[in-house]
Amino acid sequence: MAYRVLIAQFMHETNTFSKLKTTLDDYRRRWLIEGEAMVPHFKGTRNEVGGYIDSAAKYGWEPVFAVAANATPSGMLTRETWETIRDKIVGAAKTAGKLDAVCLSLHGAMVTETEDDAEGALLEALRGVIGPDVPMVATLDLHANATVRMAKNANALVSFRTYPHIDGYDRAVQAAALVQEALEGKKTPRCLLSQPAMLEGADHGRTTQPGLMRDLLAKADGYEKEPGINVVSIQAGFTWSDIPYTGPSVAVSHEPSAEARAKDIARALIDEIWRRRDETTADYRPIADGIAAARTKGDKTGPLVIADGTDNPGGGGYNDTTPVLQALIDARIENAAIGTIYDPVTVQQAMKAGVGAEIEVVLGGRTDPAMGAPVKGRAIVKMLSDGIFTNDGPMNAGVESNMGPTAVLRIGSIDVVTISNRIQTTDLQVFKSQGIDPLAKDVLVVKSVQHFRAAYAPIAREIVLVDSGGICSPDISRLKFTKLRRPIWPLDGVNDPYAGAQRA
Ligand SMILES: [Zn+2]
Repeated sequence: MAYRVLIAQFMHETNTFSKLKTTLDDYRRRWLIEGEAMVPHFKGTRNEVGGYIDSAAKYGWEPVFAVAANATPSGMLTRETWETIRDKIVGAAKTAGKLDAVCLSLHGAMVTETEDDAEGALLEALRGVIGPDVPMVATLDLHANATVRMAKNANALVSFRTYPHIDGYDRAVQAAALVQEALEGKKTPRCLLSQPAMLEGADHGRTTQPGLMRDLLAKADGYEKEPGINVVSIQAGFTWSDIPYTGPSVAVSHEPSAEARAKDIARALIDEIWRRRDETTADYRPIADGIAAARTKGDKTGPLVIADGTDNPGGGGYNDTTPVLQALIDARIENAAIGTIYDPVTVQQAMKAGVGAEIEVVLGGRTDPAMGAPVKGRAIVKMLSDGIFTNDGPMNAGVESNMGPTAVLRIGSIDVVTISNRIQTTDLQVFKSQGIDPLAKDVLVVKSVQHFRAAYAPIAREIVLVDSGGICSPDISRLKFTKLRRPIWPLDGVNDPYAGAQRA
């Protein structure tokens, strides 16, 4: 008899400081795929679900597909959204008959109108259905605000080890391999979690250059080779979330005999995160530095990439702030392209006018004009499309993305990819699919803080990360926390990472 394994995905990185609630329509705009339809959508992709599909085939499992749901980061999920998708997964477990295992793809920083720890609640509900002995694993984003409740209800939490996140497939394969060993009776994994009294840490998980996160992961790789230690995951946390569990954590999946060693490992890693808490590689600069770099090309080739990191929709940014666009216009920068500005109203205006028309636009700056007024001026409609493209990768290679109805508007010498679904700029296809050759531009602006580097660093002559005053500002003094566990570093005078912290 083949093992019956439930496979489901439910992802969201929730910025609780966003005024935009996350709805079922937001999921439909990215993906909300039920049952067997998950197979053609994800088979052959580098997504976690692709990893689970291939693993099920490799081990001869009989997969039970529940749902795959993902939405661009934004504010809290509405109660209806959370309960609808949760119930699809828990309902699938209830009606599946005998289940031998559960493989989940989660984020770990999802917050809803009714749940501060949504993944913990989901895992607990599933555990209630499948009972204590059925193995259940979950992949997590390395920006998870992971909780003890998640760890108690899962047999392993397997977090990404790359930022940009290009190893979703590999982590699912790792999680599935542990499930197979558990099914064969070779392992009985348990999971523990430890979280220090820290709001930020581990350099927000950046792995593009040598440094703290890479050092931590190298140690985690070593620990995973020890007998009785199955998975060592380091979550850097997601700062823009006003819940008790925000911040870095370490999850260790271990055999019952190795519990003491697992606790020592978690403690050693947290001690290092604490000791090196001031190390950060993020280099936010004023917009003026980006403009200066645009004016000094020298003999370097390739575009300058200005990363508008504080309006990154991948962190809940509104994707429509205008200070960078306005600065480029004011400085008369030529041959530039912006990917992207979210403004469905202007897209509709462009669609009515048609390709080649010249229109008077009031572009962007609609969600919170305090972060930059709309850009006013004349624009030529260069191209119109449905905004759907397939990612080249490395991130999410093969996965379809949907920017919604899209218009390329030329303002002066700047092409603005104007979209109707918020989406982080991670792939060159954001431009290429819109008839813009990114290599032929002098300046590219991306709405992303880190993920863009996987595809854009290889072509960029230089990268400048700017703080344009968006919602994802690195200045945490701008964030008003009311639910966070206290005391916590760096907001309070904390001298001990275990002070009042959520403990394993
Ligand atoms: Zn992440």
